[in-house]
Amino acid sequence: MTKVYNIAIDGPAGAGKSTIARSAAEKLHFVYVDTGAMYRAMALHFLRNGISPEDENAVSEAVLGANVTISYVDGVQQVLLNGENVSEVIRTPKVSDMASAVSVYMPVREKLVELQRELALKENIIMDGRDIGTCVLPDADLKIYMTADSRVRAIRRYKEMEAKGEKCDLDEIEADIIERDRRDMNREHSPLRQAEDAVLLDTSHMNIEETVDRILELFDEKTGKEGGLWK
Ligand code: C5P
Repeated sequence: MTKVYNIAIDGPAGAGKSTIARSAAEKLHFVYVDTGAMYRAMALHFLRNGISPEDENAVSEAVLGANVTISYVDGVQQVLLNGENVSEVIRTPKVSDMASAVSVYMPVREKLVELQRELALKENIIMDGRDIGTCVLPDADLKIYMTADSRVRAIRRYKEMEAKGEKCDLDEIEADIIERDRRDMNREHSPLRQAEDAVLLDTSHMNIEETVDRILELFDEKTGKEGGLWK
């Protein structure tokens, strides 16, 4: 069997993981897997069914009725919830908040981690999330822990939302990011943490291109591929 390569990128909300991972995946001809979208799809299912995030039993039961899958259209990941493409509707603050509240529960995580590991076995992938290097893919060929100052992350989110014509408040966005990080870092199961063998990338003063180039360089160094894999 030919070896498949896995790159894991973890980090707090708004660190730029998805933008960077998508771009690096394009350059490497790898598949990009956004695990946050899976937690968001699950969260949407709970919101639609009026499940309280405080009610662990109700959440655990409702997990059974949520079939989250992903597919690719022109290389872009689509997230399906019970067959419906929910890729766009999961991008709201309400869904972000629900995702971070329910991702503390093991039944939610187990179901999604299984799907993530299956995907990583099949082909070369770059996967981003909170627990990829520490839990989902402990043997990844390269692990990155990407972070940035919370104000910088809030400004990036603000600009994204503004570009979409959405009304937003910078202080509120920053407070939301800090609260989500707190929850993600302090939960019992698979908390957000830098894996021991992960490379720390603080992107506060780095642009997208510099960050992507650094990842490709690190991948070369780790695998000894010297660009041969994708050129
Ligand atoms: O990355 P994104 O902001 O879309 O993730 C939404 C939420 O899903 C995170 O705040 C986190 O609570 C949860 N998540 C997780 N593990 C992952 C990816 C996301 O717990 N691997």
